[in-house]
Amino acid sequence: MPKGEIMKYKSTRGKVKGISFKETVMMGLADDGGLMIPEYIPTLSKDEMIELKDLNYKDIALKIMKLFIDDIDISTIKNIIDKSYSTFDKGDIIPVKRFDNNIFIAEIFHGPTYAFKDIALQFLGNLFEHILLEKNKKMNILGATSGDTGSAAIHGFKGKKDINIFILHPHGKVSPIQELQMTTVTDKNVFNLAIDGTFDDCQYIVKSIFNDLNFKQNYSLGAINSINWARVLAQVVYYFYTYFRVANNFEKVYFSVPTGNFGNIFAGYIAKKIGLPIKKLILATNENNILTRFVQNGDYSLSNVVETYSPSMDIQIASNLERYFYFLFGEDSDEVIKKIKEFEQNGKINFNKSEVEQINIDFYSFSTSNDETLKIIADFYKKYDYILDPHTACGVNATLKLNDGETPFINLATAHPAKFQDAIYKAISKLPEEPERIMNLKNRDKKYFKLKNSVDEVKEFIRKELNADTGN
Ligand SMILES: *Cc1c(COP(=O)(O)O)cnc(C)c1O
Repeated sequence: MPKGEIMKYKSTRGKVKGISFKETVMMGLADDGGLMIPEYIPTLSKDEMIELKDLNYKDIALKIMKLFIDDIDISTIKNIIDKSYSTFDKGDIIPVKRFDNNIFIAEIFHGPTYAFKDIALQFLGNLFEHILLEKNKKMNILGATSGDTGSAAIHGFKGKKDINIFILHPHGKVSPIQELQMTTVTDKNVFNLAIDGTFDDCQYIVKSIFNDLNFKQNYSLGAINSINWARVLAQVVYYFYTYFRVANNFEKVYFSVPTGNFGNIFAGYIAKKIGLPIKKLILATNENNILTRFVQNGDYSLSNVVETYSPSMDIQIASNLERYFYFLFGEDSDEVIKKIKEFEQNGKINFNKSEVEQINIDFYSFSTSNDETLKIIADFYKKYDYILDPHTACGVNATLKLNDGETPFINLATAHPAKFQDAIYKAISKLPEEPERIMNLKNRDKKYFKLKNSVDEVKEFIRKELNADTGN
């Protein structure tokens, strides 16, 4: 589709189309079970891109987001961006550091909870607030977390008008810092539910509640999971921003991306489609290597989730992968549906030779074991006096496998090492320095509710709080 066309969205499964950006954001998962994607990907010419070169982060964000948003006026988008990234550490929103000639680390974790999910969830919180205000509607977010997503979501939505947020976490089973990042938020619209069970129990409860369509409708429940298109969009921005901190002559670069749900790396794929000179995206996994097998041999087959030092990548079914499938299958929704069915029935999909070739044009992938993760943290620390978090370590390890000593490699650092102290201590026998915002968590008041591992008990809690809220 030509430029200047109004941006609309459709589902990867083809039954939903012609949807505006705002409706897409509110829809989350498409009504036909697919994922929402732009009806066309806008492109920038080299000259247009060079105009972005010296802009600051917020200005690049505005330019990129504007390409995908036609139903919010530009000053409002600017406002939302301003608010969203003013909560980041002072100085550069995303510091880019150089190691050796061609190895770079882009710290995309300087938001309120020190994981890169803040970039998307700060934006999403302000975006939801704007859309709800305009529609004069209220919404109640419900989600389960094993750590990073829940804390980033809480910090994205705390204090927002017309939104309450209920986040379930397994009591005593998230890291101490993650627990503090959630429970020390005492705003009246935030409800931390500490469930006497595991993360899987929490997820089961949330799923059951969403499946009760009456309850879902009565209490205007919404989700904020990583399939929301607005999250992907917010993440496209830093590929452009970091590229221009590194490249001088519009040369091609590699991006290395520690991958779990394929949200971050899919944003890189979109950046490349817009025109950013990316040679390949490096898809880094830990011992949960389904995506590495997929890239290396077209073997996309389920195995069990194992626990590693990089818990946010302990995932088998990557919820954003269907978006890539859509493009891999030549934008053919029927083929997407067929392959997803195949996966649901057999726990695997087979890809043919030409598909595997295409996958290898787009990605390189490497899986890092637990032992290697600690080793790379130790080696990097010794060599550069810099502490990688365990997720970023998987990314850097994959980079080093491919390093040609020349092409720029931009490693996205997805979390601050202080969030994962146990692994760091194991690797280098010392603790990483804590940023002030983490240190300050320790003496705060806490607000959380301990609930039994029971769907009914969680429902009852939500019912009571929301009825009290509306004064009924
Ligand atoms: C969520 C997360 C990831 C994985 O990102 P995806 O978008 O799910 O691929 C990697 N590292 C950290 C620290 C995370 O919190």
